[in-house]
Amino acid sequence: MSAFLFDEIVFGPVQSRRLGVSLGINLLPVACKYCNFDCIYCECGWNADHQIKKNALPTRQEIYAALERKLTGMQQSDKLPDAITFAGNGEPTIHPDFSGIIDDTVTLRNRYAPYSKISVLSNATMLHRQKVADALKKADMPILKLDSAFDTTIQLLNQPAKKISVTGLIEQFSSFGKQCIVQTMFVQGVYRGQTVDNTTPVELDAWEQAILTICPGQVMIYTIARDTPTDTLRKVSGEKLREIAARIKKHGIPAQVSE
Ligand code: SF4
Repeated sequence: MSAFLFDEIVFGPVQSRRLGVSLGINLLPVACKYCNFDCIYCECGWNADHQIKKNALPTRQEIYAALERKLTGMQQSDKLPDAITFAGNGEPTIHPDFSGIIDDTVTLRNRYAPYSKISVLSNATMLHRQKVADALKKADMPILKLDSAFDTTIQLLNQPAKKISVTGLIEQFSSFGKQCIVQTMFVQGVYRGQTVDNTTPVELDAWEQAILTICPGQVMIYTIARDTPTDTLRKVSGEKLREIAARIKKHGIPAQVSE
């Protein structure tokens, strides 16, 4: 299946399903995915050889210059984005200068696009590093991934480079209070002979409890939108996604569905 890779440091703006008109920032290499997860549904494809490669990352200075150039142009044409979003070809928080880059982005946003929200799409694996957690808290929208409340399902869906404990993640998410936005990808199918389905009653009961413990400001629920690295997965229906959202909304927590 084809991989969808971003070939620039600053890309777009694109019309995002979740964030409106979004200007993207890719802190990862432009030629391949670089992530400490290897999600079986990742639209960027697989990590090369299932290994995290030490490719050259853009420098803090290059990112600052690229973002300033883009925002200046957008300001001049009076087309500023709704969001400035850290996304791209992998996990942004693994960039060694992530904290400084967030500071730069806040400075540039305040100067050129004061109404744009800074969003970070993160798999939350680096939250144990205080500097990363503090930097994420400077974003308007830290959007943190939690695809299941079971370690075994995380292992299957996300294929982390190091073992992940959901209990630890829930504690870290909770420290964000209402600022936390949880993102969950729902997917069904088969992978390497194992059934993939984080929409079963057992999965959803445990996930709902995890969300209640975290008590986030919002939950983003979505499913596959582009090609996945394996062709044995399928989208979850819009009806099912809306049912899942209703479980969260009944507790007074906003839930957004992207089909
Ligand atoms: S965390 Fe995001 S970038 Fe990393 S493998 Fe998963 S979907 Fe891809």
